[in-house]
Amino acid sequence: MPAAHTSNIHFGSRTDVGCQRVRNEDSLIVSPPLYVVADGMGGHNAGDVASEVAVNTLAALAPTIPDVDLLGRAVESANHAVITEAQKAGFEGMGTTMTACVVQGDKIAIAHVGDSRAYLLHTGKLQQLTRDHSWVADMVEQGRLTPDEARVHPNRSVITRALGSDPTMQPDLYEITASEGDRLLLCSDGLTGMVDDGSIQAMLARIRDPQRCAAALVKEAIANGGSDNITVIVVDITGTNAKAERRERRRSRAWIILMLVALVGIIGGSIFAAYNWMQNSAYLAEKDGKVVIYRGIPDSFPGIETHWLVEETDLNVKDLQPGMQARISENYPVDSVDEAERLVEQYKLQAEEDAAAEEARTGISSSSSSTKSSAKGSSSSSAAKR
Ligand code: MN
Repeated sequence: MPAAHTSNIHFGSRTDVGCQRVRNEDSLIVSPPLYVVADGMGGHNAGDVASEVAVNTLAALAPTIPDVDLLGRAVESANHAVITEAQKAGFEGMGTTMTACVVQGDKIAIAHVGDSRAYLLHTGKLQQLTRDHSWVADMVEQGRLTPDEARVHPNRSVITRALGSDPTMQPDLYEITASEGDRLLLCSDGLTGMVDDGSIQAMLARIRDPQRCAAALVKEAIANGGSDNITVIVVDITGTNAKAERRERRRSRAWIILMLVALVGIIGGSIFAAYNWMQNSAYLAEKDGKVVIYRGIPDSFPGIETHWLVEETDLNVKDLQPGMQARISENYPVDSVDEAERLVEQYKLQAEEDAAAEEARTGISSSSSSTKSSAKGSSSSSAAKR
């Protein structure tokens, strides 16, 4: 599998049948943030099936965050899946190891069963993170074998815990906080049985590219005999959680700015629409007994100009019909300034007609008739356009 750069994670992997086995019974997942090695066992293809069923179950159920409890539960489900498959296929003694990691930033969750290992290279030093579930590991712990003796012991492949037999099996769980520059190694015993920890440490420290490093480790195991299937995953811890969080904060800040821009756009658009509407509105009002035309709306808001005087006409409010007088005293809204001007002209004509009718009826020239004559000549010259 090629080296890949997925967000801030760099990794590489390789699996090989080795020199002495007919088939590769190891399975692996390299699917950030999930990395899994499973080493299957059992004759007649059963090992392939066991490790494959196990990793497929894990791929489907593993969490996407480094939560050990969720990861542990996924491994338990994988155990049940392997048991079910063994019963269905009639493969007795079919089983698999499983070392599963979820990596996010500098946090690593590990669930582990069997003798496939997880190591961490930290400041150039190799630390084994998992404890083998094997007979030789127990012997080493009891001081009855040295690690070098264990590696070549005839019983070295006897494992004491695996997926596929005990329905109550529990994986070991580890929660690790790594550092930027650390390197995580997952491998089957085909590597650790052939290459000692010192050599693994040197190669992990020396070969910077994780894919080249994984390939070189497998090559080394083959060079040393390759008596088992070999699977290696190398994951570089390149982004700490603090970095990921900073990036997350930057992203949410960008989002807030985008929302603010949208909000300003909406508000700005609304203000523009309101201003436009106001600009196109008009109303008639009374000022010093005369009808005046305003652009805008009569309502007022603090700090905002809502109306502008367009024209002071020479039309007397008291010359209008009483109903109209009342409406104008309450500010009479009209569709536009043009409409207002047309109305004023119409009222003037009406007022003149009213005055003429009054004159004809009483024979007395009313005060409005004098207004009428002056209005005729000066209706536009007296207009105060603003
Ligand atoms: Mn193996």
